[in-house]
Amino acid sequence: MSEHISFSKQVELYVDRAAELTPYPQGLIDQIRITNSVYQIQFPLKRDDGSIEVIQAWRAEHSHHIRPVKGGIRFSEHADQDEVIALASLMTYKCAIVDVPYGGGKGAIKINPRNYSKAELERITRRYTYELVQKNFIGPGVDVPAPDYGTGEKEMAWIVDTYSSLSNGELDSAACVTGKPISEGGIHGRREATGRGVMFGIREACANVKDMKRIGLKAGLDGKKVVIQGFGNVGYHSAKFLAEEGAQIIAILEYDGAIHNEKGVDIEDVFQFRKENGSFKNYPGATFLEDTRTALELPCDILVPAALENQITSENAKRIQAKIIGEGANGPTTYKAAEELHKKGVLVIPDLYLNAGGVTVSYFEWLKNLSHIQFGRMQKRFEEGSNRKILSKVEELTGKVLDPEEAKYLTEGPSELALVNSGLEETMIEAYRSIREIQAKHDDKIDLRRAAFIFALDKVANSYYMRGIFP
Ligand code: GLU
Repeated sequence: MSEHISFSKQVELYVDRAAELTPYPQGLIDQIRITNSVYQIQFPLKRDDGSIEVIQAWRAEHSHHIRPVKGGIRFSEHADQDEVIALASLMTYKCAIVDVPYGGGKGAIKINPRNYSKAELERITRRYTYELVQKNFIGPGVDVPAPDYGTGEKEMAWIVDTYSSLSNGELDSAACVTGKPISEGGIHGRREATGRGVMFGIREACANVKDMKRIGLKAGLDGKKVVIQGFGNVGYHSAKFLAEEGAQIIAILEYDGAIHNEKGVDIEDVFQFRKENGSFKNYPGATFLEDTRTALELPCDILVPAALENQITSENAKRIQAKIIGEGANGPTTYKAAEELHKKGVLVIPDLYLNAGGVTVSYFEWLKNLSHIQFGRMQKRFEEGSNRKILSKVEELTGKVLDPEEAKYLTEGPSELALVNSGLEETMIEAYRSIREIQAKHDDKIDLRRAAFIFALDKVANSYYMRGIFP
């Protein structure tokens, strides 16, 4: 890690900076900041060619102020214990900000998934789950993993299947992990939730006329030039939804090269091209840039780092030309870079708020699993019936009859996806307003990250007080 401050230390520094502006005793801040437990595991993998390889993995539970703890599992060759602790602690603050009742957790398996076959990945995931079960580091009321960098629905399906087979008929076993395929108890809208949340958060920030004026921009997303770093689940969906709201995606950066077109690129077209060709090279609709790191410095209105931590550092922060940075990834900006960006007047929408859409919809999935019923099942037809009654009365009184398409649009009851998206929108907008209010209370002198940490500390401290632990 550059700047000689470890990732977990950087998160602690953010907490300390925020704590200076809160009334909580040092002992409580210490308790909130530390990581409650870390489980480090090593186990053997039998590879497809018969050889044996030792796999290293972790699960960190940062805070038990509420249970279960929650957070993704990443597959990354760069993973280490410090990273897992930092990410688990960010989860605690993230969950507090969007009001989902979890402590923070995070897991990692130190592999590059591209180097393993599907069968090997399955063996690794199932063995990891087995180890977590042995030490009580997984369960619907204990610790609930989810997808993260390098993992997705497939891995979550292996986890729920392994857990269920070991849990001896536990009624709620499907709630042991979120981000599952729909057929295994997943929820509509979870796959795209983080990216959709990123869009809601940036849209909300851009709606503030005063804030936009300060950085020399018009309010609204329309026509804003956006650079996206990372074209995985979060980057792709952020780009897609921002474009749908009228923003122009002028560059997309991946580890193996970037594409750039000032007029904007078509996200679906780029996605298809990369899927078919494995890279951006020779994409006809844009210029290919070999040097993906300097592409971060392209002039634009909004930069969305949606890959890994430690991308904007004190080394490149001064060259970043974006007026807004929307942190889709966890920890993309280092502590020192964040200070520099604040001084430069860049509006940074911080990770612990902006990428919380994923865990928000994970919460909805968990509730669905615990209630054993799909959202909307009880009220969809009921609401449709009520709407139809009102519409018929209006038609009768006005003598005008709507065509069936229009009538259907107006009366339709909510689907699970519609409910999930509206719950997510409400969550992201309300959380932004709360953080912005804290910033305003400090005369707009603190950045949004510090405000977000204050908001999170208030929530976590309060839950300790409510339990009478720090009366
Ligand atoms: N891995 C995601 C995150 O960092 C999602 C966590 C979850 O859904 O529990 O927020």
